[in-house]
Amino acid sequence: MQIKELFARDGPIFSFEFFPPKTDRGLEALYGTIERLKPLHPDFVSVTYGAGGSTRQRTVELVVHIKREIGIEAMAHLTCVGASRSEIAAVLDELRARGIENVLALRGDPPRDQPEFTPHPDGFAHASELAAFIRERGDPFCVGGACYPEGHIEAPDLETDLDHLVAKVKAGVDFLITQLFFDNRHYFDFVERARTRGIQVPILPGIMPVTNAAQVERFTKICGASIPPDLQEKLDAARDREEEVLRIGVEHATRQCLDLLARGAPGIHFYTLNQSPATRAILQRLRA
Ligand code: FAD
Repeated sequence: MQIKELFARDGPIFSFEFFPPKTDRGLEALYGTIERLKPLHPDFVSVTYGAGGSTRQRTVELVVHIKREIGIEAMAHLTCVGASRSEIAAVLDELRARGIENVLALRGDPPRDQPEFTPHPDGFAHASELAAFIRERGDPFCVGGACYPEGHIEAPDLETDLDHLVAKVKAGVDFLITQLFFDNRHYFDFVERARTRGIQVPILPGIMPVTNAAQVERFTKICGASIPPDLQEKLDAARDREEEVLRIGVEHATRQCLDLLARGAPGIHFYTLNQSPATRAILQRLRA
């Protein structure tokens, strides 16, 4: 099923994001996580695409397994990093041939040893070019794109970032998923600015329950999201008490989700980091 059809139905959409593990053991653990989350009936799950295209085959295999064997609708992330047009075309051909209907079209981040993104000489510089390529090929994929309520870290300002987002949606993106954020004001302000600029597609908020203080500080630094002072204070006070951090993270994310849904967000995309307890606890409370 195409994800854009889900937005046309009544009720919120819940989706989970996973990354392809590096080892067979990690893969087994992930299958366990998915089995534990399956009873919560996610509308779809998505599988990330590693830096430099490093997980290309694992992303494809995992997304196909989740759809065919586990029976949950699945979306493959696809980035432009280090890939020529023909390499990207080959991935799209394989996804299509194996029954995948949804692709998240991304530029991707530069590999760790490179300070900035350099496009492949025969590849794409922006996600909008990848989305346009998918449309030009006439592939019947439902195409998603990323967006940044607090602005993308490389963008000179919010308005310029929004100009680029307008172009990305025009290039053929059917829906957007946001970068993680911890203060809903960022989401609602962003949606309002996007609507004012004529972006009509659904904007699914991405929520990451905090389960580890150091990890979330690292992530937010990389992606340019901010941690509100009250949350930071609580995390500082509980820093080394794992269970307390998890409790704070679940509490904060649950409040965020309840407020987002009450004020019209179309659903929630959970950045699960391949773990089930926090997402399960939150979604159980939302469903109740
Ligand atoms: P773009 O939309 O191309 O934007 C990147 C930057 O370029 C922005 O600053 C934008 O303003 C600017 N820009 C866009 N168009 C133009 C233009 N025409 N001229 C000048 N500047 C322009 N990364 C991975 O490696 N693998 C994943 O699986 C993955 N999944 C993600 C899922 C979600 C929901 C999100 C929010 C992010 C994900 N990322 C992933 C991270 C993402 O790849 C990075 O944030 C990356 O830096 C930008 O990707 P993008 O698709 O948003 O790029």
